[in-house]
Formats: sequence, C-alpha cells, structure tokens
Amino acid sequence: MLASMPARGGIDLGGTKIQTVVVDERDEVLGQARHPTPQSGGPQDVADAMAAALREAAAGAGVEPRALAGVGVGSPGAIDASAGSVGQARNLPDWEGVFPLARALSDALDGVAVTLGNDVSVATDAEVRLGAGRGARSLLGVFWGTGVGGGVVLDGRGWDGEGAAGEIGHMVVKQGGARCPCGRRGCLEAYAGRGAMEARARRRHHDGERTDLFHLMRKHGRPRLTSGIWARALDHGDRLATELVDEAVAALGAGIASAVNLLDVQVVVIGGGLGLRLGEPYRARIAAAIAPPLQRRPPARRAAGRARRPRRRDRRRPARRLSAQPAAGRRAVQAARRAPCGRARRAACAVGGRLRPAPPATARSAPGRRCRARPAAACPRPRSRRRCRAAARRR
Ligand SMILES: [Zn+2]
Repeated sequence: MLASMPARGGIDLGGTKIQTVVVDERDEVLGQARHPTPQSGGPQDVADAMAAALREAAAGAGVEPRALAGVGVGSPGAIDASAGSVGQARNLPDWEGVFPLARALSDALDGVAVTLGNDVSVATDAEVRLGAGRGARSLLGVFWGTGVGGGVVLDGRGWDGEGAAGEIGHMVVKQGGARCPCGRRGCLEAYAGRGAMEARARRRHHDGERTDLFHLMRKHGRPRLTSGIWARALDHGDRLATELVDEAVAALGAGIASAVNLLDVQVVVIGGGLGLRLGEPYRARIAAAIAPPLQRRPPARRAAGRARRPRRRDRRRPARRLSAQPAAGRRAVQAARRAPCGRARRAACAVGGRLRPAPPATARSAPGRRCRARPAAACPRPRSRRRCRAAARRR
C-alpha cells in the first residue's frame, strides 16, 4: 500500500549534517535520516552521503527510492536549477567549482528525478506553505546556523532580486567591525554565524581565555563547535560562550530590525541549526533585541495596536503568524513587540520547527505587559489594559 502512494523525498544539505525525509501527499513524514556531512573529499563524496541518507529515510518509510515521485534538495552555494548544478558551496569540502549534483544523486538513487533549490529559499518557502509563517503575505526568514541566511517573501511571492536577495547575513551591523567570512567587515554573520563565532572563540581561547567549549567538543566527539555544543556551554554558564552568543543576539536584533524597517514584513521566522537548538528563550531574546531599533508604527496602526480588536483596515490583513508557538511564547512575543509606552510593534517573530515551551515567567516579566491606562498601584489587577478597564467599570 505504502509503495503505491506518491511519496516524495527531501534533502537538506548543510555544512554539518545532511537531513533527509520521505513524505506522503499530505506532507506527513513517513521516514527520515540524519547523516554527518563529509568534512573531506569532494562533491562526489557529499553526493554519496546524501544518497545513503535518503535511502535510509526511504527504507524507514517502506518505499524504494525509485518509487518516489521525486527528490527535492535544498543546497548551499550558487544553484543552477535548470542545469541541476551547484557551485561555490564554500561550507562543503573542496566545492569551489560547479558540480552536477542532481545527476549524481539521480544516478545513485536508481534514476529518480532530482530538483535543486537554494537551501534558504526552499526553507523560507516551506515556512510560508507549511510552517511558522503559514498564510503570511510577507515574511522574512532568518536561518541562524554556520552562516546567517535570509529569505524574503513579499506580497505572497519569494523575492530573489537579481538573484542574490535575502543576504541578511551580510548586512553591515557595525561599520568597520569584525571580519566576516565573506572578506568584508562588520557583517551580521561576522558576529552571529556559528563559523565566525567558533573562530572568535578559538582566538580568545588561544590567547588564554578560559572556556569549556573545546573540552565539550572533544568530549562529545564533534569536529567543530556544533549548535549542541554551544547550547551545552550556555547551560553550563560558560562565560566566553555566553558573551559570544550575547553579541550574536544583539547583532541579529540590529540586522533583523533594519530589514523589517525596510520591508515592513508581517512575520519574521527564525530557523537554522542554532535558532532551532537554542529555541524559545532565544527567540524571545532576539524579539526583544529587535524592538529598540524598530520604527514606530504610523499613528493609525498605533491606535490599532492599543485596541484589542483590530481596525477594519487591519482586519483585512492575515492574522500575525504566531500560531507555531506555545501560548506562553506568543505572550512573550506580543510583550516584546510593545514599546515601553505599551504600544504594539508591528513585526512578529516565530521560530520554525520544534519549540521548547517558554517558562511563564518570560511572558510575565517582559516589559509592556502592565496596564498603563491607570497607575499600577490604583489598579487591583494590573495585568492587561482590557481587564484593568473592566475592573474599573465594575468599580
Ligand atoms: Zn559578510
């Protein structure tokens, strides 16, 4: 029965890992596998590892690879979708030239059709169609991993510009700042890209600064500082890790706020290896870091932000996409989106993929929750403006 379903395969090719899935026609995951990305060899070795990971996912789904309707690949680098090739995938071993990845994969998977797309573009598209940004007319996807990738959807359609739009990782957040892997200075990625963060950690450790990062890396048999190693070091209260991640959060706040000021998108989705691994608490921290440089909404919208029920002109807009988050996370976002004056900010944030529930304290302690219609001392239940007014009416 399963073999007759129009199952499809998907491969996410990352600098650290290869994630594969086989899904049915309702996009339910039937089988999946995760393999490490080869760190030596060349493009053919990476293609072989991708094929092996997809075979494992297909076996888990009870489907032969050749029975798949097709396989979609999200790859870093310069993608030529019509030629099925990938060039200059710098996070992958010895991949400076152009490699016919679609043909190599198809050959290794019994002739199944393979389609390539840019990893960030397909991830953003997936968030709009299936994930945290479902239904949004405009969205900014920020993928916080080895680098910092970005994808833009405007008026319901992906925006590629002249082919290189969405490079939020190379927005300058500090003029003349730290050197970025791209060779320029002061880019967001120079502070928030996991590769750049590791280089900074190594330099400072080499200069004598204490950190458990590299001890944890060796202990867990990792060749580099993966998202999991950063998360563990933060859990241990490692000072250097905390400082570098704090810098990354501040840089993400500046970069994303600048992008939102320019594009005025409905939804910002934070994904990527570090984004997903650090989860809800860091989504809330990034949301808080975005707030200060964000422009105020125009007066009409400010008023709409104060009211519980949106104005008619705003009612035509799709609801802000927060549904992928647990309720506590939603409250934290809504709180973080409020200016100190209590007015709502426009941009919403959501983390794609798995989420950890936020502790209720996060939502309650965030600024802007308190009713400002009356002095807090005069209101017996100063939780929200609406409840406070209701209480006042009852009095
Ligand atoms: Zn750069």
